[in-house]
Amino acid sequence: MSYHETLSLSREEFEELLDHFEERTYDGRTYRHLPDYRRSLERGTALVGGAVVRGFPKIPRTLVLETGVPRQFDETVYVEEKLDGYNVRVVRLDGDVLAFTRSGIVCPFTTAKAQSLLDLDPLFDDYPDLMLCGEMVGPENPYTTHDYPGVDSLAFRAFDVRHRETGASLPVPERRERCAAYDVPQVPFHGSFDPDAGVEPVERVIRDLDERGREGVVMKTRDVSAQLKYTTSATNVDDLTYAFSLPFDYGQPFMFRRVIREAFQSVEWDEADEAARDRAHDLGEAILLSMRETVAEIDDGVAVGEDHTVRGDSEAIAALFDHFRDMGLQLDVTSDRREDGQRVVEFRKRTQKTNDKTRAYLDGKIVRE
Ligand code: ATP
Repeated sequence: MSYHETLSLSREEFEELLDHFEERTYDGRTYRHLPDYRRSLERGTALVGGAVVRGFPKIPRTLVLETGVPRQFDETVYVEEKLDGYNVRVVRLDGDVLAFTRSGIVCPFTTAKAQSLLDLDPLFDDYPDLMLCGEMVGPENPYTTHDYPGVDSLAFRAFDVRHRETGASLPVPERRERCAAYDVPQVPFHGSFDPDAGVEPVERVIRDLDERGREGVVMKTRDVSAQLKYTTSATNVDDLTYAFSLPFDYGQPFMFRRVIREAFQSVEWDEADEAARDRAHDLGEAILLSMRETVAEIDDGVAVGEDHTVRGDSEAIAALFDHFRDMGLQLDVTSDRREDGQRVVEFRKRTQKTNDKTRAYLDGKIVRE
């Protein structure tokens, strides 16, 4: 079948979309991927030697559980924990297990990790068209920095199993059974509920996750045709702390959205004045104290940036840095060593805007605002 047939598009529609694909190579293999959303195609869709790897859909959010949940769902809702890491789709093509990041790039580091962390051949032998979707979590990776209890370095947690070419999901209960049968670790499951009977069950889950400093939930219909996410205050505060520590490199919408979410949660939970004041206090600290620290550091002549550590075999790490160089990223390696037979590299992604703007303001730059 040709690409346009597999993607259920007309030849003209496909050819128009093709202009938005970017070409890359991985290990001698040329492929194309769609880095942004375009009409009927998911962001991250990849075309690899005649095969299609569907993108992972964008998950909508509600700011108010009580009204948003019944608006999105009219059948049983399955609740899974939303883990804070980075999105990965793992497939097997021509005998090779490949891991695609959100925008459809084959990441050499993640591919090596998927191959070493998971034994996927039995699963792909039985289901060759399957696409395993999950979150890579843990502190040692090139994209996110979130710690995850029980994960010292990096771990994979499955949250969806789709058909690689159609993107159709395996229903939640079947997917959980299949992953368990093939020893694929999964995101925690928090039960199911009937949205007509109220959202109290999911609210309870959120309060518990919030206390444990976890990110939130993704609610799904059985066949995953509809999804909805909702996050905890703990995660809003963490995100704001991080974003305001690099205030000119994070987009203002990223920050503003998280502040807005706090207001809606405070009202939905009918918070007493004192609880609302505590929330305001945490929010204020997240915004101001992290930024204050950054300004003080730059004032002391220290450059700020996003610090990452990666651990793995030497070749995979070399491939990762080649990949970053190709993408034009500015990196400073702060440590490169061997530990227990593995290469461990600590590096900093330069956040030029925060360094430059903060320096300029400290030097008295006059602003007209
Ligand atoms: P994007 O544009 O990549 O969707 P976003 O910032 O809008 O990013 P997020 O808030 O990160 O989206 O939430 C969606 C992401 O949550 C998914 O793409 C997936 O990587 C991640 N995720 C974590 N746990 C789950 C889960 N249990 N079910 C579905 N997705 C999950």
